[in-house]
Amino acid sequence: MSVGRGLAAAATDGNARRAGDIYRSIGVEPIINGRSTFTILGGSLMALEVSAAMREASEAFVDLVELQQAVGGRIAELTRNEAAFVSGGAAAGLFLAAAACICRDTADGILRLDGPDRITDLPREFVIHRAHRIPYDLAIGLAGGRLVEIGTDSATAVWELEAALSPETAAVLYVPKAHLAPAVIPLADVCAVAHARGIPVIVDAAAQLPPPENLWRFTEAGGDLALFSGGKALCGPASTGLVLGRADLVERLARNAAPLQRLGRPMKVGKEDLIGILAAVDWYLNRDHEALGRQYEAQVDHFLEWGRGRSDVSVVREAMGEAGQPTPRAWIRLSSASAGERDTLLARLRGEPPRVDLLADEENGFYVAPETLVPGEELIISRRLDAVLALLAIGP
Ligand SMILES: *Cc1c(COP(=O)(O)O)cnc(C)c1O
Repeated sequence: MSVGRGLAAAATDGNARRAGDIYRSIGVEPIINGRSTFTILGGSLMALEVSAAMREASEAFVDLVELQQAVGGRIAELTRNEAAFVSGGAAAGLFLAAAACICRDTADGILRLDGPDRITDLPREFVIHRAHRIPYDLAIGLAGGRLVEIGTDSATAVWELEAALSPETAAVLYVPKAHLAPAVIPLADVCAVAHARGIPVIVDAAAQLPPPENLWRFTEAGGDLALFSGGKALCGPASTGLVLGRADLVERLARNAAPLQRLGRPMKVGKEDLIGILAAVDWYLNRDHEALGRQYEAQVDHFLEWGRGRSDVSVVREAMGEAGQPTPRAWIRLSSASAGERDTLLARLRGEPPRVDLLADEENGFYVAPETLVPGEELIISRRLDAVLALLAIGP
């Protein structure tokens, strides 16, 4: 199991190795990640099964096209999808899915943005709910696509979707997030409207795990392609992503991807990555997700209990994770401190070892997310909070 390895290694090795020593050896102090699966902190901790498989994969050469097809076939089976492709991260998957949708009706399916073979009259518009705009949608522009927004942050009507679709539409891009539900059209309805015009729907579900069933739910609901991050809840290589769904689109997508010398070549995945993400999907689907849920609850309970003894904070259980996943968090609010004082507190937590990174809320509080904590780290975090709160004397 990935989480637990760090402390276990530290406990059994005695004065020998501590998790993170390889980073310390070059002067980079590791961080306790209570923020969640953020790429900037390294995504997630790899399961031992995954790193062992990657090591084994590093010991022999293989034909990468054959390997990509075999891994895709296995991942498709495991995730109950028609086909699968491993991209260099979910954002690379977005680029490749855009390329496949732009070229869905051309003879060779290869995207060319320049040169004599460049085709100019291809559909390039990607319709997206305004509430679904994400920093990663830049990848659409990288493929020569253009975003067309529908609706507002608080509401979108089906007629707005219908009015936005045209022969210029390459696809609809949908970003499922439970907390946006009132502002957007349900996925199944979007698919019905788009499919009636022969337009595919790309679902960017990069952070929508758990539940594991989401690996097939979005495509079952009609999504033509669903994208997931390999380095978030799946605990695979951070440089991988999954594109799951329609076999014909996956086949088109592969024509634009590494190892071929096409536009997707800069986003390559290596043989170790391919074996690593396959091992991660297998491992993730076989995890005891109920036990994991109980572990998260216990870690959140620790902060509720910690907060009960203090007058300078109030702690509540927040039911949803940062990306709207059904994972609980502890939401810690400061009784009488400003947002600026909160920022000082978070900077202090991050500043000195054991360094702790937490996510600020929109007011004067912050969250602790359990899914990236090694069991036991919740105790280290509450002790550091004790010390930093005393130091800053933020009180009522
Ligand atoms: C994290 C995320 C991505 C990027 O995923 P990578 O695997 O890091 O490339 C894309 N879209 C959404 C919605 C995400 O949450």
